Amino acid sequence: MLPVDSHAHLYDAMYAGQTENVISSALGRVGFIICPSEDRKTSEQSVQIASGESRIFAAVGIHPLHTEHVSGEDWKQILSLAHHSPKVVALGETGLDFFSKNCDRELQKYWFSRHIQAAGELHLPLIIHDRKAHGEILSLLQKQAHGVVSGVIHGYSGSLETAKALINTGFYISFGGSITYPGSRRIRQVASTLPLDRILIETDSPYQAPFEKHGELNVPENVWYVAQALAKLKQMPVSEVIETTGHNAAKLFGISRN
Ligand SMILES: [Zn+2]
Repeated sequence: MLPVDSHAHLYDAMYAGQTENVISSALGRVGFIICPSEDRKTSEQSVQIASGESRIFAAVGIHPLHTEHVSGEDWKQILSLAHHSPKVVALGETGLDFFSKNCDRELQKYWFSRHIQAAGELHLPLIIHDRKAHGEILSLLQKQAHGVVSGVIHGYSGSLETAKALINTGFYISFGGSITYPGSRRIRQVASTLPLDRILIETDSPYQAPFEKHGELNVPENVWYVAQALAKLKQMPVSEVIETTGHNAAKLFGISRN
């Protein structure tokens, strides 16, 4: 069984000239890949990449840091892709980023809320970006999504308490390269405690390279390092981590694994 990378930006300009190599190398070592988007243009790119490859799937949406220049026409096009392309398995990445001081928080909340509503209407899960906005995201999901929409908080960096509340609201928690760093004690503690049947793994390629590949361009097959780190933290065989997190991703995104 091969691990699933639930978050890789395959269209990213950092892969310029080597996208095909990155993808073909990755597909030899991972089961499937979810490619989330940041705006209209990258949503179109994700769908295009996914359309050409049976084991790549797309999520379409507007990243919280890209909410300032979205037009009604952009949103219409994103929803149309979600509605018409069989390779779109989620909306995202959406969410809130309160780390950046430059992007209006009310506008971010407005668009996050629209994604939650659209996910309910389209029966799709959400891929959520959460940076320094843990409490705000939890309360919006509790209000709008509980019992209606599921999804995943990607690259999780919040507390154990918030993670448990997110799980109770019907969401999964995804861990990436950060759990491979011995110094990331707090997040490693959270990962070791949460139930494996609510965990996804990811790379967030081309960003967030794992400890073993620090300073390099991150690629989807590095999800193996994340799986190994999680197995070590949970003191279980890596095969079990790969099997269960892969099963979780397949279930959340409605993908059949053969
Ligand atoms: Zn991302």
